[in-house]
Amino acid sequence: MASITLNHLVKKYGDGFPAVNDVSIDIADGEFLILVGPSGCGKSTLLRMIVGLEDITSGDLLINGQRVNEKEPRERNLSMVFQNYALYPHLTVYENIAFPLRLSKGKFSDEEIDRKVRAAASTLDLDEHLERKPANLSGGQRQRVAMGRAIVRDADAFLFDEPLSNLDAKLRGQMRTEIAQLQRRMGITSVYVTHDQTEAMTLGDRVAVLKKGILQQIASPRELYEQP
Ligand code: ADP
Ligand code: ADP
Repeated sequence: MASITLNHLVKKYGDGFPAVNDVSIDIADGEFLILVGPSGCGKSTLLRMIVGLEDITSGDLLINGQRVNEKEPRERNLSMVFQNYALYPHLTVYENIAFPLRLSKGKFSDEEIDRKVRAAASTLDLDEHLERKPANLSGGQRQRVAMGRAIVRDADAFLFDEPLSNLDAKLRGQMRTEIAQLQRRMGITSVYVTHDQTEAMTLGDRVAVLKKGILQQIASPRELYEQP
């Protein structure tokens, strides 16, 4: 578990207007923070800076109070869930979930991997599907496998990049409820990018609104809803 502090974060690509412009947010341990804003406002860039896929131009990023600007993504121990699932089509559900554990070579025994994969699958109601390949799963099940891969690692935080945007409306509603329950049950710090109003207003503890790279507002859904 982790607190994440964004301290005057700036990202410039080339000479243009900064994609992320002096953003400061304290994300508490266990908090569910939603990032919203129009396309191109810098949501993905900010998420990628946190996870370590994008260099920070200036400012500081702290995880549990420690500066991690120069740390490799692997060392940050954060789990990212993407909108396109990024599952391996040739691997079974079991092996897709086990993948991050197998990457950290030698760290986990086969027994530990088996126990962790089965626990994650059980949490996500995937026990029956462990031997299937992604092509034989529904969209919602695939999304759960992607979640499984995130939770199996005991990461300090989850970062979601519009994880439900490829699902139909019914499934999106269902997965929204599942993610909210999972996050509360696990109490794990989460940053969730969306441009879906309902997700923004129902999922998070706080909503951060970005516009042209600038943090416009940060408030609870209730405060945002009640303001004139
Ligand atoms: P969002 O996720 O809110 O749609 P992005 O973070 O993808 O926004 O993009 C923010 C701004 O940065 C946009 O103007 C986009 O064109 C620009 N941008 C994003 N990635 C790159 C890149 N690799 N090179 C140059 N400009 C980029
Ligand atoms: P999304 O809005 O879903 O994040 P985009 O289509 O904006 O996806 O970006 C897809 C990829 O292209 C990302 O890796 C992003 O960093 C990169 N990108 C976005 N805008 C630009 C840009 N103006 N120049 C170069 N790369 C960009």
